[in-house]
Amino acid sequence: MIVDLHNHTFLCNHAEGIPTEYIEEAIKRGIAVFGFSDHNPMEFDPKYRMKFEEISTYFNLIDEVAEKYRGKIEILKGFEVDYIPQYLDSRVLENSSIDYLIGSIHFLDGWGFDNPEFIGEYQNRDIDSIWVEYFSKVEEMANSKLFQIVGHIDLIKVFKFLPKKLDIRDLVEKPLQAIKRSNMAVELNGAGYRKPIGELYPSREILEMVYEMDIPITIGSDAHSPKQVGLFLDRTIKEAKEIGFDEVAIFRKREMEMVKI
Ligand SMILES: [Zn+2]
Ligand SMILES: [Zn+2]
Repeated sequence: MIVDLHNHTFLCNHAEGIPTEYIEEAIKRGIAVFGFSDHNPMEFDPKYRMKFEEISTYFNLIDEVAEKYRGKIEILKGFEVDYIPQYLDSRVLENSSIDYLIGSIHFLDGWGFDNPEFIGEYQNRDIDSIWVEYFSKVEEMANSKLFQIVGHIDLIKVFKFLPKKLDIRDLVEKPLQAIKRSNMAVELNGAGYRKPIGELYPSREILEMVYEMDIPITIGSDAHSPKQVGLFLDRTIKEAKEIGFDEVAIFRKREMEMVKI
């Protein structure tokens, strides 16, 4: 069964395409379970996300396509939530329509480290310290137990600025233990293939640890346009199978179910 739980729509203001266009593409690619995961509304960084008032529009649009394509594809409702504790909001976290929340780190103290606009900031910092800070946020996010899925767990590698002295396995050990304790799934996110790093999130070495620790995985293409739906899913599934995974997690009303891949 092909699953893709990470997809954005025009409502994010930096993605394009309406839900019907995403679903048409998903059906073409043989996706059986498809999830929308627009960025959460919040008072920080508002131009890259929907407004709180648009949450109902978002859910209505999803309900419409779910009805239209009933029997052809299962459609789930999610948000990709920036884990910034002071901006978390119950209108997202406690929303009863939600099937799952993806917890992601895109900011370190307000710095959007994965945004090419702010890439210059890497020159001002020590790369090893950035990696330590990033993974401590991932650990804190997992410990919050607010989310079902960890989004692109090693996003910090996006521009290929890798740690100089530190071993990535050491950095990720405690975050993975927290993820396991919180019963979360780690997302295999194919967007990494189309970024400077040119590989899956997570890297092979992290994915092997995930497997050894018996942590569930799920899959997302992180599409920001209909043409990116399912992009690199073949490669993503191949990597998962090479390591030994034969099932992935989906979530309905925040309850995990494992399905065969
Ligand atoms: Zn985005
Ligand atoms: Zn993201």
